[in-house]
Amino acid sequence: MILAWIQKTFGAADRRPTGDRSGTFVYVRCARCKEAIRVRIDPANDLAQEFDGKGDTPVGYSTTKGVVGRNCFRTISLTIRYDRGRREIGREIEGGEFISEEEYASLAGESRAG
Ligand SMILES: [Zn+2]
Repeated sequence: MILAWIQKTFGAADRRPTGDRSGTFVYVRCARCKEAIRVRIDPANDLAQEFDGKGDTPVGYSTTKGVVGRNCFRTISLTIRYDRGRREIGREIEGGEFISEEEYASLAGESRAG
């Protein structure tokens, strides 16, 4: 079980060649087990263009992520929307809640022992 998780988690992440320079992070907490999870958003790969149907210029962007933590294997689905300048304009989550980076740091520190 643990090995499967390691392969699943790090197998995909390690294929990225150049670190986190272009990525941003969001922080979520599982509704079920309260695990704090950091989610990387890569603007170069994760943002899908959204069109209004009238032209070829995107009216905005969105990204949808399925996040699985280590504790309970439930999927947390999050969607973040951006305007055409890639500024965040809204976010939604199912199966968890958004937390701040400070909350994540505090929660992740606490759960590391267990
Ligand atoms: Zn959980």
